Amino acid sequence: MPVDAKSLRQVGRQVPSSVAVVTTGDGLGVTVGSLGVLSQRPPLVMFSLTRGSRGHCLLNGLTRFRVNVLAEEQAWIGEHFAQGEPGDRDLVGLTSEVLPRIPGAVAHLECSARERFEIGDHTMVIGLLEQVDLSPGRPLVYWNRDYHSLFPVAGEPLAFSGREVQSTT
Ligand SMILES: Cc1cc2nc3c(=O)[nH]c(=O)nc-3n(C[C@H](O)[C@H](O)[C@H](O)COP(=O)(O)OP(=O)(O)OC[C@H]3O[C@@H](n4cnc5c(N)ncnc54)[C@H](O)[C@@H]3O)c2cc1C
Repeated sequence: MPVDAKSLRQVGRQVPSSVAVVTTGDGLGVTVGSLGVLSQRPPLVMFSLTRGSRGHCLLNGLTRFRVNVLAEEQAWIGEHFAQGEPGDRDLVGLTSEVLPRIPGAVAHLECSARERFEIGDHTMVIGLLEQVDLSPGRPLVYWNRDYHSLFPVAGEPLAFSGREVQSTT
């Protein structure tokens, strides 16, 4: 199959992602599926935004941001911030902290923006992770243009699955 816009869209549909909302000091937020944990030493995370998209304006003057990794019951919040509706603080229950937090998210990652690269049609932002708060619950998954819950594959634990490690922590 040739690499063209259609095949790339199909690839994008086949690659599941987490769903996170990046919030900033301006009270802005945008839904991203491009979150990645990049490095442990130093602790770095990244996300990327399409240049020219509405969400991209979040990057204007960006110095600090919070990544809210959504829980499986928060698909509506993912949709909300993908549509970029204004005046959403009360509806979503955003806290009034400098970097607003989405209650119920499974992880809150507070970051300072370190690097910014223009790559292809995206801007990639790399942030230094300064504070992490984790909550119980399963993360929301986006796959094939829809939201999903995450369940383990049935069967015996695999040697490299990490399930034993998870069950002891
Ligand atoms: C689950 C989910 C994940 C998203 N992740 C990202 C992301 O990592 N980076 C980003 O720039 N925007 C992402 N978006 C889109 C973003 O949240 C806003 O919807 C977008 O910025 C709105 O801009 P627009 O009106 O120009 O929309 P559009 O023109 O509809 O979208 C602009 C661009 O956003 C990107 N985009 C749209 N939906 C997705 C998606 N599901 N996954 C990945 N990219 C998408 C595409 O590259 C598209 O060209 C995501 C949306 C959803 C629902």
